[in-house]
Amino acid sequence: MRKGRMDIPFLEKFMLPPDDYEIFKFGGNSLKNEERGIQKMLKYFSSYFTEEQLKENVARHNLKTMFDIVKKSFSKEYDYTGTGIELSNLYQNTINSYIYNDKVNPAFVHIDELFESTVMGFLLAMFKWSKDFDNLETYGECFKYILFLMNDVCIFGEMQGMDANHALMDTVNGDIQILQLAEDCYWTIVIFSLAHEIAHAYLASIGKKYTEKHPEKEEYDADMIAYHIVLKIIMEEKNTVTVLEEYTYLAPMIYMDFFDLYYYTDRVLYKTVFHDWQHPSPVKRKNRLFAIADKDEYDFDTVDGNHLYSGFLDVYDEFKDQLLLKMERGKLDKIVRTEKRELLRGRNENEQKRSSGI
Ligand SMILES: [Zn+2]
Repeated sequence: MRKGRMDIPFLEKFMLPPDDYEIFKFGGNSLKNEERGIQKMLKYFSSYFTEEQLKENVARHNLKTMFDIVKKSFSKEYDYTGTGIELSNLYQNTINSYIYNDKVNPAFVHIDELFESTVMGFLLAMFKWSKDFDNLETYGECFKYILFLMNDVCIFGEMQGMDANHALMDTVNGDIQILQLAEDCYWTIVIFSLAHEIAHAYLASIGKKYTEKHPEKEEYDADMIAYHIVLKIIMEEKNTVTVLEEYTYLAPMIYMDFFDLYYYTDRVLYKTVFHDWQHPSPVKRKNRLFAIADKDEYDFDTVDGNHLYSGFLDVYDEFKDQLLLKMERGKLDKIVRTEKRELLRGRNENEQKRSSGI
């Protein structure tokens, strides 16, 4: 992957002509049914795979099998079965996953459909951007797509439509390496999210109490357990069937960065101050994860993973710089929907009180 992003000229080309941006937007409100998240993405690459391979892939990697793998790992690592916990995967306009957890009867872990296509699209665009950084067209398209994801999808909870998918796939342009990287990281993030939510139920089951003053401790604990599960699965599967690739060990950090970019975009575009009495900031959570990965008990090859992540961080910084710059120069006026954001604000605050998102 490339590097050296020092002198990227600010080209008019990267402005956001409204028509060009509009293409990402969702026209109706269909979604759901057969065409879901990752399967949908895979379809674009169908000419590169045999039908057999595609079916095998879907059978091996899907939300349900991941959920079972996580449960099995909990039973082994923590002697916790969580038998009663089920998986919910409907579209509820949120990229947050959460567990419905009344501390007595954990009922279900929710992973929104919006999460699936959003995280996969995010990974594809970020990795492609990082790989072909010097290609100005790719650069411009990836920036625009990430901005669309943050603004329309994350902030406003709108499902990306087929047009956005087409545009993304045109940019990825059959790059099978990028698809592979994105897909591998995606499953590590799925395992991490599922394990994080189940960890809340586990912590309740062992009677762990958190004070009102420091509810964020529970999030750190859930992250720690979830990451332990991820790393154990990576290590264990080394000699058998691979569920998670070892080079994806930093994918949970990428997931935190995803949330960080989301909140950052909200701050820059709408001056939203993220304050959640329960959840520490993604950056703090990420730093805790790094401390876990460094422990001696986890032993695997980190070279490729570090390389991938450093490329990711370059475009992560680039997105932040460019967003701020364009905002200051008034280049984003057309996509900013301040009034709608205000309307959402009240609703979101209520939502936050009800459920504990990721
Ligand atoms: Zn949580």
